[in-house]
Amino acid sequence: MLVSETLFRSQTTPSASDYRIGIKVRLFRVSESNALRLATLVQYLPGVGPSRAKRLQKLGVNTAQQILFFLPRSYELPAPVCAIDKIQEGVPCSLIGEVEDIDLITRSPGKSICNVIVINESGAVRLLFFNQPYRAEQLTIGQRLQVSGNPRLNGLQVEFTHPKVVTLSDEEDLPVPEILPVYSLTEGLKQTDLRKTVRMVVDELSDQLKEVMPQSLRIRAAQALRAAGVIDRDQLPGISDSIRGLHFPSDQRILDQSRARLIFQECLVLQLALAIRQKRLSTERKSPVLTSSAMIDARIKNRFPFPLTIDQERVIEEIQSDVARPFPMNRLLQGDVGSGKTVVAVYAMLLCVANRYQAVLMAPTEVLARQHYLTLKSYLAETKVTVGLLSGSLSNADRRQVLHDAETGQIDLLVGTQALLHGGVRFSQLGLCVVDEQHKFGVAQREMLRRGGADPHYLVMSATPIPRSIAMTLFGDAELSTLRGAPPGRGSVHTYLSHQGWKDRWWNFVCEKLNEGRQAYVVAPMIDSVASSSDAMDEAEMSKNEDISSVESVYEDLANGLLSDYRIGLLHGRMDQQQKQRVMEDFHSGKLQVLVSTTVIEVGIDVSNATVMTILGAQKFGLAQLHQLRGRVSRGVHDGHVCVFTDGETHPDDHERLKVFESTHDGVELAEADFRLRGPGDFFGKSQSGLPPLRITDLHRDQEMMRVARRLAKESVEDEEFFESEDWAELRSQVLRRYGDRLDLGDLT
Ligand code: ADP
Ligand code: MG
Repeated sequence: MLVSETLFRSQTTPSASDYRIGIKVRLFRVSESNALRLATLVQYLPGVGPSRAKRLQKLGVNTAQQILFFLPRSYELPAPVCAIDKIQEGVPCSLIGEVEDIDLITRSPGKSICNVIVINESGAVRLLFFNQPYRAEQLTIGQRLQVSGNPRLNGLQVEFTHPKVVTLSDEEDLPVPEILPVYSLTEGLKQTDLRKTVRMVVDELSDQLKEVMPQSLRIRAAQALRAAGVIDRDQLPGISDSIRGLHFPSDQRILDQSRARLIFQECLVLQLALAIRQKRLSTERKSPVLTSSAMIDARIKNRFPFPLTIDQERVIEEIQSDVARPFPMNRLLQGDVGSGKTVVAVYAMLLCVANRYQAVLMAPTEVLARQHYLTLKSYLAETKVTVGLLSGSLSNADRRQVLHDAETGQIDLLVGTQALLHGGVRFSQLGLCVVDEQHKFGVAQREMLRRGGADPHYLVMSATPIPRSIAMTLFGDAELSTLRGAPPGRGSVHTYLSHQGWKDRWWNFVCEKLNEGRQAYVVAPMIDSVASSSDAMDEAEMSKNEDISSVESVYEDLANGLLSDYRIGLLHGRMDQQQKQRVMEDFHSGKLQVLVSTTVIEVGIDVSNATVMTILGAQKFGLAQLHQLRGRVSRGVHDGHVCVFTDGETHPDDHERLKVFESTHDGVELAEADFRLRGPGDFFGKSQSGLPPLRITDLHRDQEMMRVARRLAKESVEDEEFFESEDWAELRSQVLRRYGDRLDLGDLT
């Protein structure tokens, strides 16, 4: 029989750490026919019976290979070594000493106490083992031990009950640091059992893992990562070492290096997928080339009653260079409400018209579509550029006319909601599509605008900034433009985080502003009145909910109390469209002085005379949402004032979020903070469906890693070798397995 090297090793010399973690390696003989392979199903692993196999399967682990990639959730760190006279009760520690005395007291059959005294130069400790008489036989007087556990003080005597004990040979003087993996478990599966199984599989099979990263790439990656300060040496460990190092690291350094290697690989696979898609798009998709000239530039800028800001100029240059290429631009323009995005979009649309192509602008709501339409009309008064509005309220005849004019090219710029995609709109020559306030513009939607094999360029505007790390994950930040700060001539906004005793002062201030002629918003969370009256709710829930402002009760209270002298209106999402419309118009015209509302005002209301905002129940809102709300009172020349109230008990995390909201007005910075505090969920809803499946990468922590991966991925796909060489085959197939469907990469191998 051939004995493979791995077998040989584990059969004869279980490594020291096998004993250290208290695992007795099962010695088993493996004949060639039933040798373990990566594909071996878990139920056929030695020591794993059908019932444990079922539990492993519950964790998504079906094969030996999947065990290797079932990475620890966390680690148990070794207890620090401590001198005996410095030991503190309840603080886990370890020490090395010599057995001085062993005393086994048997009370009755099965009931015993084994008392062991261990000494060193700093004192003596007592180890207690209940009902483990074999301890007395295992240990011998004079033996050197490493003891670790949770100490207790009994008078002056330090005691350990059932400590972890490792016998040391004479030469082995230093305590062996030991980092134990902690795995996610499922019912009926014990940590020690799982460790045992993983240990066995790692020892047997980790060497058989295929290396996916070519050597040359690993070297380049290591150098780049080191230069970026992510790792501290010029080498990334191979896959086998990394897997070993992640499950059973001999020290923190090994653990860090192993983890870095796997995180890098995860980032790299994602970035390769993105780079491939980008490359495909740029070679397979065609778009009109829109060129600029000094004259076109001057003529467009002439349409604006103000000079563009430096930020706007910069973003316009980014757009100009994108649309001058023969494949579609795909750019996200982010910036706070009022930062001047629309002006940039108008520039891009006019550039398109100057090149004799049409442009379309899609708004999230009818109201905003109309607003955009009016803005465009005013910029383009006295020009030959024609603007059309496709709105739900058009008569059939008008609608047909607009559709006809778009198709025949008589309309240069068409504005509408996304519904215009479904209305059979055809363009004669569409060059640019601007989407306002929509994070995702699906592939299917794009297809509708493709005509005759040509794609329009895309510009997506968003007032909810995406943190850089996420942007990089979604499309590589080269396609992200950011407008920071507001154009000149705006009043600034003051934000106050209210505390006890502030209510009166604040409402007095609100009245003062109303008396000066300003208008005010009061925002409260919507509460489901059906749920609050349901009998299913217990008393605790009831009292909790009573503290939460509901927009209707807030309205009643204010209208009949503090603000009874003012004209006050109510707006929430449950009102029908006409009612809502009327309230908004009344607030717009000044008929209403105060608007009590849910967050429906987030999008769509633009009343520059409204300068005061009170946000109630603010702990319920995310940072991005709060910031959007705040944007409503920074629309005019007057300074805005926002005061934030919480109700009920405020969780420390909520408080921290509100502190951040108070302290910064930069939307991008807030997005980063929100991301740090609440994770990526907020940006994509609960399901996070927009984000790629990353298992060990932390988008916030590993930003630098992702950046390096992106650079190397881009370089790699530029080289034909990537698509052809055998060296890259494994990596290619991994990219395809992970992201092929998602990113529509087609066949790559
Ligand atoms: P956004 O679309 O980002 O909300 P807009 O483009 O609508 O922002 O601009 C907000 C307001 O600022 C508009 O009233 C616009 O006329 C004005 N504005 C935009 N750019 C400038 C500028 N460079 N100088 C002065 N005012 C500007
Ligand atoms: Mg806007």
